[in-house]
Amino acid sequence: MTDIRFHNTLSGKVEAFVPQQAGEVKMYTCGPTVYDYAHIGNYRTFVFQDILRRFLKLRGFRLNHVMNLTDVDDRIIAKSSAAGLSIREYTEKYAQAFFEDCRTLSIEAPEHWIRATEHIDEMVKLIETLQKKSFTYVSDGSIYYRIAKFPEYGKLSKIDVGGMQAGARVDMDQYEKESARDFALWKAPKPGEHFWETEIGTGRPGWHIECSAMAMKYLGETLDIHTGGIDLAFPHHENEIAQSEGATGKPFVRYWMHAEHLLVEGEKMSKSLGNFFTLRDLFAKGYKPSALRFALASVPYRKQLNFTFDGLTQATNSVERLRNFADRLKAGKFAEGNVAGMAERVAAAAKEFDEGLSDDLNTARALAAVFDLVRDVNIAMDKGEFKQGEVAAVREFLAAFDKVFAVLEDSDGVKLKALGYGGDSGPGDAEIEKLVAARQAARQRKDFAESDRIRKELADRGIILEDSRDGSVRWKRK
Ligand SMILES: [Zn+2]
Repeated sequence: MTDIRFHNTLSGKVEAFVPQQAGEVKMYTCGPTVYDYAHIGNYRTFVFQDILRRFLKLRGFRLNHVMNLTDVDDRIIAKSSAAGLSIREYTEKYAQAFFEDCRTLSIEAPEHWIRATEHIDEMVKLIETLQKKSFTYVSDGSIYYRIAKFPEYGKLSKIDVGGMQAGARVDMDQYEKESARDFALWKAPKPGEHFWETEIGTGRPGWHIECSAMAMKYLGETLDIHTGGIDLAFPHHENEIAQSEGATGKPFVRYWMHAEHLLVEGEKMSKSLGNFFTLRDLFAKGYKPSALRFALASVPYRKQLNFTFDGLTQATNSVERLRNFADRLKAGKFAEGNVAGMAERVAAAAKEFDEGLSDDLNTARALAAVFDLVRDVNIAMDKGEFKQGEVAAVREFLAAFDKVFAVLEDSDGVKLKALGYGGDSGPGDAEIEKLVAARQAARQRKDFAESDRIRKELADRGIILEDSRDGSVRWKRK
C-alpha cells in the first residue's frame, strides 16, 4: 500500500506519516468553545478531522483520539456571568447541540470526549510544574508564561519574536500575532466572575493550558497528530507547545495538521455580512445533512473552501447520484458471469482512491476515482454489459468509500426530524416497499389504472419511482 503522507505545519513540509507505536495513532483535536452554536466554518474542521480518523481506521490503525469541549474561557465566563448562570448551566445547551450536530453530520465520536472544567486539577499540576522550572511569574494575582524562557517560541506559526519586549503581557485568551506576549496560564478572578480555589491560588485557567493538560493526560507527553483550524495555530497551538514542551522537555506533537478557512460566497463569514450560518440555519432552508457533509469534505483540507449554495446543491446531486448507483447495484438483476477488464477497472479505482487520501488527504482526488468508476459502471449497466460477477467487488469499493465519506445511508429525513426540521418525513421504507410491490403486481396483471394510481399516491407523498429496463423498480425520496 502507498505510504501515507501528511502536511506538517511544524516543518512546513509534506512528510511520510509514521506513528510512534506501530498500528496506533494518538490524536488530539481542539473541540468547540461551547458558548454558542458552532458554525459551518467550525464544522469544516470537524469534518476534516473525521475524514482523517476514518481514513486512518480504514488503513487499519487503532485510534486513540481525544476531543475537548472548551467550557471555560473569556467568552463563557462573560456570558454565563451576564446570564446569572453557573458555567455548567450556561454551556450545557451548546455542548448538547454540538453532540447533536456531530451525529447529524456523521462525525464519529472520538475515543474520549472531555470537558475542560473536569480537568482543573491536571491544569493546576501542569502550571505547578512550569512554576518549578521557572517558566512563570505572577502579576496582579495572575500567573503568566514567560515566553523568553522558551527560545523555540514561534516555531509552529513562524512568527518572529525578536523585537518583542520582555515582560509584555496579554490577558485575553485570543489575540493577534502582532501581540505575541507572555500569556496568562491562570487568571485572578475579576469581581462577579466564576473561580476555582486551588493550590496555585483562586482563579480560573487560561484557554491554552486546557489543551496541554488534557492532551497529555490521555495521550502521554508526545502525540502523533494534533488537528485544528488554521486560526488556532497562533496563539493557541504555539502556546500549547510552549507549555507542554516547557514542562516535559519532550516534543509535544509530531504532526500538526491544520484545516484552512471557509469562505461563504467568496467572503469571510461574519454575522454583520449576513452570511453566517450554523448547521441549523441550513437545515431550516431545507438542505440535507449528507449534502453539507459532502460539500465540506470534498475540498482538500488545506485549500480554502468557498462555500456556496450552488455548491451545496451540487453536493446534494452528487450524494443522490452515489445513492442511486448503490441502489442500482443492489436491486439490479445482472446476467451471470464476468466482464472482461472490469475487475482490473475496480481495482484501479480502489488504488486511486487510497492514493488520493494517502496524498495528504486529497479528498478531491479520491472522489474523482469514485465518480469515474460510477460513470463507467453505469455505462456498462445501460448497455446491459455489467455482470453479476462484478457486483461484489464494486460493492466492496463503495463500502470502503463510505467508511470514510459516510453519505450513502439515506438517513437525512430521520436526522432532520430528530432536530425538529422537515415535519412529516413521509412514509417509512416498509410501507413504500409494500406499495411498490402492489404496483408491480398490478402491472403484471396489466391493471395499469391501479399501477398509475399507486405511482401517483407515492408521488404525492414524496416518493419517486424509477422503472429500469430489467423490469426492477427503484424508489427514492424527493
Ligand atoms: Zn486546543
